[in-house]
Amino acid sequence: MSDAVKVGFVPFSTVPRGTLVVFCDDALKFGAATRKTLGRAANLVRRAADTNQFKGKSGSTLDILAPQGLKASRLIVAGAGKLSAIKDNDFLKLGGAAAGKLRAGNGTVTIMAELPTGAMTPDQAAAVASGIRLRAYKFDRYKTKKKDGEEVALKGDVSLAVDDVAAARKAFAPDAQIVDGVIMARELVNEPPNVLYPAEFARRASQLRKLGVDVEVLDVKAMTKLGMGALLGVAQGSTRPGRVVIMRWNGARRGDQPVAFVGKGVCFDTGGISIKPAGSMEDMKGDMGGAACVVGLMYALAARKAKVNAVGAIGLVENMPDGNAQRPGDIVTSMSGQTIEIINTDAEGRLVLADVLWYVAKKIKPKFMVDLATLTGAIMVALGTEYGGLFSNNDELAERLTKVGLATGERVWRMPLGPEYDKQIDSQFADMKNTGTRNGGSITAAQFLQRFVDDTPWAHLDIAGTAMGAPKSDINQSWGSGFGVRLLERLVADYYEAK
Ligand code: MN
Ligand code: ZN
Repeated sequence: MSDAVKVGFVPFSTVPRGTLVVFCDDALKFGAATRKTLGRAANLVRRAADTNQFKGKSGSTLDILAPQGLKASRLIVAGAGKLSAIKDNDFLKLGGAAAGKLRAGNGTVTIMAELPTGAMTPDQAAAVASGIRLRAYKFDRYKTKKKDGEEVALKGDVSLAVDDVAAARKAFAPDAQIVDGVIMARELVNEPPNVLYPAEFARRASQLRKLGVDVEVLDVKAMTKLGMGALLGVAQGSTRPGRVVIMRWNGARRGDQPVAFVGKGVCFDTGGISIKPAGSMEDMKGDMGGAACVVGLMYALAARKAKVNAVGAIGLVENMPDGNAQRPGDIVTSMSGQTIEIINTDAEGRLVLADVLWYVAKKIKPKFMVDLATLTGAIMVALGTEYGGLFSNNDELAERLTKVGLATGERVWRMPLGPEYDKQIDSQFADMKNTGTRNGGSITAAQFLQRFVDDTPWAHLDIAGTAMGAPKSDINQSWGSGFGVRLLERLVADYYEAK
């Protein structure tokens, strides 16, 4: 894993050197421990704040170099805004915003985990620590040179000064594993498609075995035997054969019905014979964002030894135009037995998911399954890049996903399903066709998927707008965002984990 920042915890009494970060509210007030650390430098802050019109607004910072009266060579005052309005999720952003100001060469960094109202709780301090690590992640493996003035990734140790070191360490231990899972997902999304193709993706997912995850890889022969004609139809146009990977984490009692997560893993999507225009086609290396999320999520659950039985299943293919590629007009038979007429070979994600969803519904029989897929451009037309699209046949599951979305900041917005939309995917030659019209494109895609879940409680997350190329935020500067890992980890933790 390529994140270079380590966050540790030290007591409030530590004398900071290098860079010191302190938090204030919108009245420029500090907590008692922070005042003690600042000493005479507190006056300096007041003068600098006046000069810079710094008001302590949330996300704003005041930067003071060579602060008189401190051993530190740089003092960053970070605004936390109005404290009465602060929510749990904001601590993650506080950490991220602070880390955004840090640069390599700033020396040791100390961040006071205190607000004017008092020391942050261990959970709040852990969230700040997570925010720092999420923000610091940068994908620069393939850059052999740095341009002058180009931001250098923050590296080294960051110390969070806290009230209770042992309690903060304990709170951060599982959170650090979740951050690792998010970073793993980002790495997979960011990797170029010549490096990350189905077999290589399967190899990387297989590394979860080190954490005690049972990993099964289905090759073309195994998939053919299972009758996965929908997935194989997409895969056949590439010289790189497809794979399905089934990951099982057994953290609860034997026999406890598992929860399941399914990911679309189109390692590169040219569109196939219905080829995409050249503009931005390079972004289609991220068409495996759903599968990346499932791997990162399984990592997080296994690493923190979640008391749950969870299954992750990903369908990995490359959608290429080739002499052997499937054609518009082809009719394929899915594992469910239902036949599909291919209208547009660029609507391939749903074909991949059709067989993986059916496999999970029938072979795993989970409590519920949630699939994630960079499925449609239409979801971006509907929701922009702020919310993932949520479709579900189960109100309880949909409500829970909406709630954990608000709690984690990985928000989802429920979209409709209904038999009326089904007409769009009726085929004159087969049981269905793989695309409808332009109208309601993300909905007809979900209607299509629903035909392969049987009566399993199911939710589909269309993450085409949020998994890649989403706007940068306080806690993410990377093209691949890792969207969904924290969302689904929280879903498991809050509702499906044995206490
Ligand atoms: Mn496509
Ligand atoms: Zn696709």
